[in-house]
Amino acid sequence: MLKEAIDIKVNLTTSSNLPKVDWDNLPFGKVFSDHMLTMDFADGKWSEPVISPFANLSLHPSVSVIHYGQTVFEGMKANRRDNGDVILFRPDMNAQRFVESCERMCMPTIPVDVFVECVRKLVEVDKNWIPNKEGFSLYIRPFMFAMDEGVGVKPSDTYKFMIFTCPVGAYYSKPVDVKIEENYTRAAVGGVGRAKTAGNYAASMYPAKLVQDQGFNQAIWTDGVTHEYIEESGVMNVVFQINDKLITPSEDSDTILRGITKRSVVELAKHIGVPVEERRVKVQEIIDAYKNGSLKDAFGAGTAATIAHIQRIGYRDDILTLPSIESRTISLDIKKRLDDMKNGTGEDPFGWCVTV
Ligand SMILES: *Cc1c(COP(=O)(O)O)cnc(C)c1O
Repeated sequence: MLKEAIDIKVNLTTSSNLPKVDWDNLPFGKVFSDHMLTMDFADGKWSEPVISPFANLSLHPSVSVIHYGQTVFEGMKANRRDNGDVILFRPDMNAQRFVESCERMCMPTIPVDVFVECVRKLVEVDKNWIPNKEGFSLYIRPFMFAMDEGVGVKPSDTYKFMIFTCPVGAYYSKPVDVKIEENYTRAAVGGVGRAKTAGNYAASMYPAKLVQDQGFNQAIWTDGVTHEYIEESGVMNVVFQINDKLITPSEDSDTILRGITKRSVVELAKHIGVPVEERRVKVQEIIDAYKNGSLKDAFGAGTAATIAHIQRIGYRDDILTLPSIESRTISLDIKKRLDDMKNGTGEDPFGWCVTV
């Protein structure tokens, strides 16, 4: 149980949008809950957080974030269990990653307990927005951006931290097809690839569009120097299964986002006795494993998609078609354990689920 660490002022809406929601047609990230949380940074300190009715912002056209891109975000989910309990999954890890992203972008940080309490309180206020349908959850989007007005490149002195939430269903409704990208780069050594900052996504849209035009869902990024090593995909880390072992690119490189879902998959796999290697992964190793029949599985891991099985991998002019989803017993087992943990129907050996 999380305890209240700080005071958060709450101004409730007088006209809820909840009755207008079409739960059977819920587009991902387009439906917003009734409230949002705001906290402002000025004169070197944070104001008290306030929860208020969801509303538009009014910004000066020269506001720093629009021009120079100092902004970071997080993505997490709340789930409702059959007994009514609401849980967050490892929220302290999102809070910690938010601190690291802010530091890299030269932005002020928010203490982990304050961040988690802000999320907890907003979810509690809008708990009726958490769908209790299988595969559905409340997506939570905390973010911070630079608020200084005026032209000129420098770290802003003022910032806004906000959180809103969206009830969502599955991000991908089917297994995904990905293309190994050898021309464009998501992140460079010494760059900002490890930070969940807007520019990383802006930079990836054009190459992602090119692979989408070829019929793939997403690119698999390779390292920016040699394009010989696999990094990650879209908003997911990637994991491969060769024979009975899981292999995933190590996070030592500052070009890879340190995913909480991937970390949880790795820890859970080790817990159930599946060997895991976190190291550099050569594209050629995956191609060779495919050719000799030892590539049993490939999947993306991320909060939005949870575990997204990869059906086809495009590599240059070839298409590698991976084994049927039903045969992927290790990732299916891990996915079920994660789902059951969140639903409260399975064990939570590490205490990852936190009741709101
Ligand atoms: C958010 C994100 C992930 C997945 O991280 P989770 O903590 O598992 O949600 C992976 N890669 C990128 C680029 C991301 O932005």
